[in-house]
Amino acid sequence: MGDEDLKIPLAGFLGEAAGSIRRFELEPTTVTLDDDLALAGPISGAFEVSRTNRGVYVSGDLRTALAMECARCLGPATVPLDVAIREEVLPRIDVATGAILDASVEPNVARLTDHHELDLEPLLREGISLTAPIAPLCRPDCPGLCPECGARLADGHEAHDADDIDPRLAALRGFQVDADAQTE
Ligand SMILES: [Zn+2]
Ligand SMILES: [Zn+2]
Repeated sequence: MGDEDLKIPLAGFLGEAAGSIRRFELEPTTVTLDDDLALAGPISGAFEVSRTNRGVYVSGDLRTALAMECARCLGPATVPLDVAIREEVLPRIDVATGAILDASVEPNVARLTDHHELDLEPLLREGISLTAPIAPLCRPDCPGLCPECGARLADGHEAHDADDIDPRLAALRGFQVDADAQTE
């Protein structure tokens, strides 16, 4: 599925009265993300587009997954994500008159394309970026790294014997055992 398919034509819909609603399912798709984020699976879900007096109100409930790094063990973490998109999108061009609207009045609002299309790509990208966890985990109970040797505790890492940690302590213990043996 290419980016072209992420543009939903709304010229006809814009001619309908305020309050009209159009619903559609998103075909499983992918987008290129910002912020060093990478998808671990396609984006899927459903959209509802409502006609407002000024433009359209877009409401989407989507699912996807991100390929991230576990904040505890630094291993790969596949993070399932529920993404809610709620955004008003205004026309760039008046659908009735063809007049170019002054977008500088509200520079931060999302806009339809010059062809009255709703471009889902920036909405998906922004929604995923806002929902991505700051400290993802590979699993909820990830035990992290061993404070002694830095190995992953989840990889069947056995607790260190005290003798392994400090050889001088081990030598001292051996000496004490010998001393005990001599007194018997
Ligand atoms: Zn982890
Ligand atoms: Zn260790």
